[in-house]
Amino acid sequence: MKYKILVKQHIGAPCAPTVKAGDKVERGMLIAEPTGLGAAIFSPFNGKVADVDENAIYIEAKEADQPKEDKYIPLEGETPADLIKAAGLVGMGGAGFPTAVKCNVDLHGGYILVNAAECEPLLEHNIGYLAEHADKLIEGVKILKKLCNASHGVFAIKAKHEEEVKTLAALCEKEDNISVHLLPDIYPMGEERAVVREVLGKLLEPTDLPSKADAVVINVETVQRVAEAVIDKRPVMTKNVSVAGKLKGGTHTRVFYDVPLGTTVGELIERAGGIDGEYGEIVMGGPFTGKPTTLDAPITKTTGGIIVTKPFEDLKGAKVGLLLCACGGNEARMRDIAEKMNGVVECVQTCKQAADIKGTLKCENPGNCPGQAQKCMNIKKAGCTDILIGNCSDCTNTVMGSAPKLGLNVHHQTDTIFDTVGKERMRYLTTSKSVPQLGEQTEEEAAALENCVYEVTQDVEDGMLHIDIKSGKNIEIELPLFQ
Ligand code: SF4
Repeated sequence: MKYKILVKQHIGAPCAPTVKAGDKVERGMLIAEPTGLGAAIFSPFNGKVADVDENAIYIEAKEADQPKEDKYIPLEGETPADLIKAAGLVGMGGAGFPTAVKCNVDLHGGYILVNAAECEPLLEHNIGYLAEHADKLIEGVKILKKLCNASHGVFAIKAKHEEEVKTLAALCEKEDNISVHLLPDIYPMGEERAVVREVLGKLLEPTDLPSKADAVVINVETVQRVAEAVIDKRPVMTKNVSVAGKLKGGTHTRVFYDVPLGTTVGELIERAGGIDGEYGEIVMGGPFTGKPTTLDAPITKTTGGIIVTKPFEDLKGAKVGLLLCACGGNEARMRDIAEKMNGVVECVQTCKQAADIKGTLKCENPGNCPGQAQKCMNIKKAGCTDILIGNCSDCTNTVMGSAPKLGLNVHHQTDTIFDTVGKERMRYLTTSKSVPQLGEQTEEEAAALENCVYEVTQDVEDGMLHIDIKSGKNIEIELPLFQ
């Protein structure tokens, strides 16, 4: 097989190849190094370089020649900082920012916030890894705390992952200042500043970095790879990927761990069962921020999901207004979806909370709706019959409060994907925007206690005061008596 390893898999400049056509390579061998901001690239295979061009290094590799997963050329370097840099680590949640640069910071006793929100629907590889290897992630957090001079490590994870939360909480109890913060199940909770806001209660400006709040926000898989780089001296050669959609054997998500970089989308889809008949598009990434891709595209350090969709709904040339969200598809992606739905874009509106920062939209307060009625009216006034939105859970709910009343047919950019996998379309907000933290009362428990009838008795023999709650939530509390 011939594998295409891109020389740019990160934010920054493309790497410079250190190999040429005809060279033999081994698993873990450096094949391209940074020329400025960037991260080194390593061969995931034993094989031979077939070709090198400005975009990629092509490696011929035979399955029979591949070593076991734990065999590779180990990294050289002594300190965690050296090893993280040497490993070619980048933000593996999709951002691709070089981790060595991100972690070259003094947090003055602040926070390492592990982003375990896995906010994009259908992606499951982060929670899946956490369920099996939470201990490795704790090791990664300890390394990062020391490296960045942070005194706290916090796993930010959605409360709905009850088993994984229990596992993490039990492990954290044995550690100094590593804890769990529960997130609500709404989109977007994984945006960096949303994580800072939810955990630390500080709302940063769109131009601020988490370091302004003495925090580093780091994705689960990046923490995994930090631990592997420092403890196992393992370079980044593989990626964890979720694959879902119109596949033979069912539309559910399959998780593949340690997929060699350069594996094609088509090969991974085949491993997941293969495409089931006619399809609409293949998306690389999640339903909100993913982009269309092709079967021959290679898996990179930032690939999180591969989703095969059913064919698109046909809007038969309807006039469509787009409503852009900073945390959804950009204008090009939304136009692409409208075109695939056979709609004609007549009007483009942007959520008023989406600030344009150097050509990229960033939300001023992710997931908290500023109101969308005016935007819907603008789209109606432009003569549209349909509105295609990419909004967060809260704003979608608001759109649903006005657009249908204006006679607009509402479509969400995630509809085709959700329809494919049988997931309810995103329309109304059905879950709470806040969740109790571990040990706190739930809203139901608080309401039950408010309406309780208490019966207080004193048992002289056991010296305890018994408070028996006769109605509401049925619990009994025992308090020691003070004489
Ligand atoms: S408030 Fe607006 S920009 Fe922010 S996440 Fe919601 S729709 Fe997107």
